[in-house]
Amino acid sequence: MTDSTITAATNAAVIDRDRRSVFHSWSAQGSFGGLPIVGGDGTTVWDADGRSYLDLSSQLVNVNIGHQHPRVVEAIQRQAATLSTIAPAHANETRAHAAELILERAPEGFSKVFFTNGGADANENAIRLARLTTGREKVVSHYRSYHGNTGTAISATGDWRRMPNEYSRGHVHVFGPYLYRTEFWAATPEEEAERALRHLERTIQAEGPDTIAAVLLETIPGTAGVLVPPPGYLPGVRRIADRYGIVLILDEVMAGFARSGEWFAFDAFDVRPDLITFAKGVNSGYVPLGGVVISEEIARAFDDRIFPGGLTYSGHPLAAASAVATIQAMAEDGVVENARRIGGDVLGPRLTAMSAVAPVIGEVRGLGVFWAVELVADRETREAVSPAVVAAAKSALLERGVLGFFADNRLHVVPPAVITDDEAGRGLDAIEEVLVSID
Ligand code: PLP
Repeated sequence: MTDSTITAATNAAVIDRDRRSVFHSWSAQGSFGGLPIVGGDGTTVWDADGRSYLDLSSQLVNVNIGHQHPRVVEAIQRQAATLSTIAPAHANETRAHAAELILERAPEGFSKVFFTNGGADANENAIRLARLTTGREKVVSHYRSYHGNTGTAISATGDWRRMPNEYSRGHVHVFGPYLYRTEFWAATPEEEAERALRHLERTIQAEGPDTIAAVLLETIPGTAGVLVPPPGYLPGVRRIADRYGIVLILDEVMAGFARSGEWFAFDAFDVRPDLITFAKGVNSGYVPLGGVVISEEIARAFDDRIFPGGLTYSGHPLAAASAVATIQAMAEDGVVENARRIGGDVLGPRLTAMSAVAPVIGEVRGLGVFWAVELVADRETREAVSPAVVAAAKSALLERGVLGFFADNRLHVVPPAVITDDEAGRGLDAIEEVLVSID
């Protein structure tokens, strides 16, 4: 069968066709169970059988502007009709426009954007920039982190996803702040910040400060649990980086572009990095795109020196056009403000209040449209619920027409940043029903 139309297909037909020929990521092939989503609109998607779901996952936490935003779709169509592709070696106005809009949202002192195809290669190239400018090799990152699944980015990643893929050298990991499960002596957020900063500085000293090119951190570690940094942590990291001439890279791939209720999450934490990596929300993934925002100082180092990075599709015009339309739509529609408000007024308060009626909730953390609910078998010991409980909660939510994002023992509530109060209320009602019923 060569016809790729799916309008007449059922869920079963799509799943069967897909499983026969597609080799899936992060999945055992025999047990791949992806939903056959065939359409979407705003915060809603629907499957081939016509069943609708409220998307509280934003897919891989990237569809910040919502599904099928007409302005973004139209911009891609327009660009496709004009110039569908052009090599990065050519000057391109749409690409320049996207860079300008991103730079307008970065702090002062950032002057250039290097475009990539996604988040992993954004981090690859940020690390490359740091290594080339410092002449040093090592990169320090958190154990509880994810930076992408390419050679260097997966080695910089700290959690289990690094293990089967760790072939790149020069990576050092530290335990960043996580008060709820701190391994150490800290009892308050401030103490946990101090603990993590001391650990970071000791590690840098033990490794040899003049071997360390970069500290690479997610501003808010995302898939590791929406670990909102405690007060003082990121400014403290900045001070340590400055003390040893280390480049500070903040990974905003998940946290940026409205997810945290800011254009860049670090705006809420009183810190300025040297390099910013982005992807996901910048164009909601309508066309693959990522990049590195580069400080003037680092960019200047390449005025007379070749930067040996780039791929055939870097700065692809369809991706650039979708970024322009996304950023403009977000700005005009107040999407960043909506995320901040709905996080502060609706998601945060209701999830926190749910703890009183659902003993399975150990901790609720987050901001904007970026929340994690930690599910525990025992509040005293903080023992995580079993994978079977997580799987049951996921199916129970799905039965209620809600897509959640589950990671380890956590439910992440990460809807598109355009979500309305009514939609949020509907999703939260379903979550409450499911979590209350877990003993
Ligand atoms: N960095 C962070 C913080 C991420 O969450 C992700 C993806 O989830 C990446 C990097 C990798 O991005 P991509 O999958 O676009 O390569």
